[in-house]
Amino acid sequence: MSTWFRIALWKRVIAALVLGIAVGWLWGPGAESIKIVGDIFVAFIKMLVVPLIFFSLVAGVASIGDLRKLGSVGWRAMLLFVVTGQIAVWLGLLLGSVFRPGVGVDTSALQMGTIPEPSETTWREMVLGMVPQSPVQVMADVNVLPLIIFSLLLGIGILMAARDGEPVLKIFESGSVVMQKVTAIVMELTPFGVFALMAWVAGTLGLDALAALGQLVFLNYLGCLLIILLIYGGMIKFIARLPVIDFFRGMTDAIAVSYSTASSNATLPVTLRCAERNLGVSKSVASFVISLGATINMNGTAMYLGLATLFGAQLFGVDLSWGDYFMIALLGTLGAVGAAGIPGAGLIMMALVFGAVGVPLETIAFVAGVDRIMDMMRTTTNVTGDAAVATTVAVLTGEIDKAEMVSADDV
Ligand code: ASP
Repeated sequence: MSTWFRIALWKRVIAALVLGIAVGWLWGPGAESIKIVGDIFVAFIKMLVVPLIFFSLVAGVASIGDLRKLGSVGWRAMLLFVVTGQIAVWLGLLLGSVFRPGVGVDTSALQMGTIPEPSETTWREMVLGMVPQSPVQVMADVNVLPLIIFSLLLGIGILMAARDGEPVLKIFESGSVVMQKVTAIVMELTPFGVFALMAWVAGTLGLDALAALGQLVFLNYLGCLLIILLIYGGMIKFIARLPVIDFFRGMTDAIAVSYSTASSNATLPVTLRCAERNLGVSKSVASFVISLGATINMNGTAMYLGLATLFGAQLFGVDLSWGDYFMIALLGTLGAVGAAGIPGAGLIMMALVFGAVGVPLETIAFVAGVDRIMDMMRTTTNVTGDAAVATTVAVLTGEIDKAEMVSADDV
C-alpha cells in the first residue's frame, strides 16, 4: 500500500493510461463493462467543480488586492484567448485545404450516427443566460459562466468592503484550502478512472469508421499537436520565458485526465491544482484565468471546427469562397467559445458553422462514430491552453512563484 503512494501520482496515471489502452484493445467491446469505474471518477471530479470555483475564485479575486490589478490580468488573458483562437481556426482551415481529407472517402463504409439537435438558443438568450439571476440555481445546474460572474462580483464586493469584508474573506480563504484537500483525495481515484475510460474507448472504437476517416482523425491530432507544441510551447518559452519541459511535466495529470474524460469542465479541478502546485501560478490568477478559460478558451475545438467544415464541403462537393472561409473562422471561434466543456460539445457546434456555409449536416452523422477519439485530443489542447495562458499572464503580472515550478518528481 505504501509503495503505491510512494510512486508519484502522475506516473501512476500515465501507467494506467497505457495499460487501459492495452487491456481495451485485447478485450474488445466487452471493456464497456468497466466504464462505470470511469463514470464514478468523473462524477467525483464534477462534484468539486462548483465549490472549488466558488471558494477559490472569490478568495482569489479578493486577495488580488485592487481592481486595477484584476483588470490587467483580465485583459491580458482575453487577448491571449482571442489571438490563439484565431490562429487555431485558421490552422484547421489550412490543414483542411492542403490535405483535403474529405476527398475520396468511402462513405459506404461508414455507419451514420444520429445528428445531435442544434441548439435553438438566440444570442439574446445566451447573453441573458450569463447573468447569475439565481446564484443557487446556477450552482445547482453547474452553470459555470454565470457562476464565475457571481464569484467575481462577490470578490469585488469583499475588496470594496475593506475591513468590514475581512471576516467573509477569511471564510472563503479557509474554504478554498479545504477544497484543495478534498481535491487531493479525489485525485487518488485518477489512475482507476483513467484506466477504465481508456479501456472503454480502445475496446469499443469502430475500426471500420476509423479506417475510412483515418485522415480526418490524423489531421485532428496533427493540428492539436501543432497548437500545443508551437503556440503554447512558444508562449511559455518566448513570452513567459520558462522551461517548456517543466511546463508540460507539471501538466501531466491534467493532460491525462482531459484526454481520458474528454471534458474541460470535469478536468477543471485538476488543471487548477497543476497550475498552482506544479507551475507556481498564484491562486488568484489560476482560479480566474483557468475557470474562465475552461468555458470560453477552446483552441482544439476551434481548429477542429475549421477542419471539419472543409471536410464536409469536400465530402459533398460544396464550393467555398473566401467569404465563406472568413465566415467559418468567425463562427468557428464563436462556436468554440459557446461550446460547453463537456464530451461531444464540438460535434453539436458543427451544426452552427455548417448551416452558415451550406455544408450538409449529414457530415456530423458521418464523423460521429470517431468523434470521441478526436474529442479527447481537442480537450487536452483546450485544457493545456488554459494553463499556458494562466502561466503567461501570471508571469506578465508578477503573479508567479518560479521556485514552485518543481520537478514533477516531487509532486
Ligand atoms: N469536449 C471538449 C471539451 O470539453 C469540447 C469539444 O467537444 O470540442 O473541451
